[in-house]
Amino acid sequence: MTNAVIIGGGIAGAVAAVALHKAGIGSTVYEAYPRLADDVGAFLTLGVNGMNALTAVDLDGPVAAVGEPARRLKVFDADGVKVGDGPLTGADGHDLVPRTYLRAALYRVLLDEAERRGVRVERGRRLVDATATNTEVRAVFAEGSHADGDLLIGADGVWSVTRGLLDRHAPAPRYTGQHIVYGFSAAAPVVVPADTYWMIRGGRAFFGVIGGPRGGLWWFARVPAPELAGAELAAMTTERWRERLLAVLGGDRGPAADIAAATTERIVGHNDYDLASVPTWQRGRMTIAGDAAHAASPSAGQGASMAIEDSVVLAKCLRDVPDVPRALATYETLRRPRVERLVEAAAALSSRQSESRTRGQGDSDWIRDHHIDWDAPVEPA
Ligand SMILES: Cc1cc2nc3c(=O)[nH]c(=O)nc-3n(C[C@H](O)[C@H](O)[C@H](O)COP(=O)(O)OP(=O)(O)OC[C@H]3O[C@@H](n4cnc5c(N)ncnc54)[C@H](O)[C@@H]3O)c2cc1C
Repeated sequence: MTNAVIIGGGIAGAVAAVALHKAGIGSTVYEAYPRLADDVGAFLTLGVNGMNALTAVDLDGPVAAVGEPARRLKVFDADGVKVGDGPLTGADGHDLVPRTYLRAALYRVLLDEAERRGVRVERGRRLVDATATNTEVRAVFAEGSHADGDLLIGADGVWSVTRGLLDRHAPAPRYTGQHIVYGFSAAAPVVVPADTYWMIRGGRAFFGVIGGPRGGLWWFARVPAPELAGAELAAMTTERWRERLLAVLGGDRGPAADIAAATTERIVGHNDYDLASVPTWQRGRMTIAGDAAHAASPSAGQGASMAIEDSVVLAKCLRDVPDVPRALATYETLRRPRVERLVEAAAALSSRQSESRTRGQGDSDWIRDHHIDWDAPVEPA
């Protein structure tokens, strides 16, 4: 039986393990961190297409159980005037809806499901090198151990080591010119329904909020600003993020500044990066998936959904195309056009600050209505 070495126990890695298992292919997941970070406040939304891809590998039920449906979107301008209102679900009446997840809860359920199906997950194993022959691969880890397999899938995120091992000239992630700041506020100065996103196109920042479980608010802001160096980022406390936010949100009407001011829980911020086109996705028996291969600005709210789609399609290719290098080439052919189009669309959305609809959730038909048929055979490229 084929055995895959999967690097990274995030979204792409865990879904790849489950999808390969369904395809009758064994795998082991090697995750750098010894335990899951409790990333307080961090949340993300899976679009209808992401939920649809989970359905292909029977993960939709367990995953949906830890998320909250997001059925509606209302858009406001900087004067607090409503400029858009509509459903987030597909127009064709299917019953999938986008769902919002605490990041840690989503990662946990995906890895738990992989383990429940018999996949081995090894934590505290950080890939530093890999070699491949015509018949096998060897992954080398930081503490000196190694693992062998028939192929290697680098699902190691936007700062992927695997990408650099495939091509030492691979591009580095590009700073998008914005900070992404997010928080959870148990105190709610306004009532936002639990299934409705409010998006506020502020004069100097974009703000999104949705009612969380038990009455609190999940919120995020995209703030144009110069990239913070590592030490500057490390020095950013909740208080400093809040000060910066209030400085840019304060001039707008509407609840954004009040929500940020009322948040006494931790506020977290990041530089935002994307990765538009990675020339080398696969070589021989090694490939990359998810953010390692293409990373979209969170403005599209699609990175996780695209990572899930990648992993399901990759497993189908390995199931149907007998030769591993050819299967990996087929996977690239099937996935590259869609994900590169998405990264471009997300970058345009992010730079406009004037989006009329949503932080993703598949607001364009070509994103939302993508369906992966698990049983349809893959033709080799
Ligand atoms: C603020 C923010 C908000 C976002 N909001 C959304 C949203 O609403 N909707 C959406 O769809 N997407 C969103 N995204 C994007 C989404 O989080 C990513 O696209 C998604 O997590 C990609 O999954 P992945 O598995 O490829 O990478 P990751 O989730 O980053 O997982 C990579 C894993 O690999 C491990 N790893 C890294 N290096 C190594 C190594 N050398 N050896 C072993 N393991 C390693 C990491 O520890 C990690 O567990 C958001 C991103 C950010 C930053």
